[in-house]
Amino acid sequence: MKTYLVTGAAGFIGANYIKYLLEKKYQNDDIKVIVLDLLTYAGNLGTIKNDIDDKRCVFVRGDIRDRDLVNGLFADNDIDYVVNFAAESHVDRSIEDPQLFLSVNILGTQNLLDAARKAWVTGKDETGYPTWKAGKRYHQVSTDEVYGSLGDTGYFMETTPLCPHSPYSASKASADMFVLAYHDTYHMPVSITRCSNNYGPYHFPEKLIPLIINNILEGKKLPVYGKGENVRDWLYVEDHCKAIDLVVREGRVGEVYNVGGHNEMKNIDIVKLVIKTIRELMDNDKNLRRVLKKQELDANGEIRTDWINEELITYVADRLGHDQRYGIDPTKIKNELGWYPETMFADGIVKTIEWNLANQEWIAEVTSGDYQKYYEEMYGNR
Ligand code: NAD
Repeated sequence: MKTYLVTGAAGFIGANYIKYLLEKKYQNDDIKVIVLDLLTYAGNLGTIKNDIDDKRCVFVRGDIRDRDLVNGLFADNDIDYVVNFAAESHVDRSIEDPQLFLSVNILGTQNLLDAARKAWVTGKDETGYPTWKAGKRYHQVSTDEVYGSLGDTGYFMETTPLCPHSPYSASKASADMFVLAYHDTYHMPVSITRCSNNYGPYHFPEKLIPLIINNILEGKKLPVYGKGENVRDWLYVEDHCKAIDLVVREGRVGEVYNVGGHNEMKNIDIVKLVIKTIRELMDNDKNLRRVLKKQELDANGEIRTDWINEELITYVADRLGHDQRYGIDPTKIKNELGWYPETMFADGIVKTIEWNLANQEWIAEVTSGDYQKYYEEMYGNR
């Protein structure tokens, strides 16, 4: 029996992670998953409704910064693994409100570390270092953005010095340093994964890929920063979840593992690919056109798709401090743990678009309210 405390699991990756644990990897195993999530604009209980109906899963609405709440969770449960996804995660928002990112991403992480330390330390060894209950692990879900930006060549290794540029990545880098400091100072059993950009189901539509898909369905323009030349390394979200599961259970304590699929693409090429794929899917299956908000008919009485083309792209002022290129070297996790990305981008992007087409209710739910206000502030009514 293993008990997980998974924070931020009503968000994109955390939700995919608990679905992977409960529905796929440990479907018949005796595990307990406690989800702790504040349900900010990015967290949606509807995303994990089926999972929290599973009797092995418990949902707690709360803040990772809340000392009493987090200590209480450790007091009431024999938690084996903490997997910390909870974060403010959007770079643009961090430029608007850096302090929130500092507070949630750094202080929240440190609060979780401290609560786990209190619950898991059993005494001291002869050298004065704490001794720990067996089989425990604190895992921090981090990002390749902590390494900063690359030129045209080279990759981020685990040994690459941290050089974050945005308030978001600075807060994540700082949290990573705290995690490693708890290992060095207290010998706490910790691990970190630093992953490239994820895409897939339940991706909040402020991020590039779901933003483009949903703007097309809404008949809106497609905003692209600068010239769209920035390069990101994309990984299907379930491959990330598998990597985290492996590291939590089998990764070496005190280690960082880079996770990425060697799938680098320029933002503008991603946008063009999404346009082309949606158009092809709708041209092959006319029923799919029903989700288009723009319902203009052609001479044959069919819903038109000819307007789904690159003319929808509109270039907007570049993001401040925009990193040019991220590229991950995942050799360590491949060699040590046998992890490799199973979903090729060509398949993953089709699955992701199909998921978005089939889940318009979910999109409507998460884009109502707070996010709608935020979108209008950033992009107006485009
Ligand atoms: P997300 O924004 O979709 O979800 C974050 C979740 O955290 C939400 O459910 C939100 O309600 C919750 N949350 C926020 N503040 C909280 C608080 N104070 N207490 C409790 N819960 C809180 O984020 P995501 O894209 O799923 O990313 C999850 C983690 O993975 C983050 O730590 C992020 O830095 C990291 N990461 C993301 C990517 C990516 O491509 N999205 C890549 C690498 C690493």
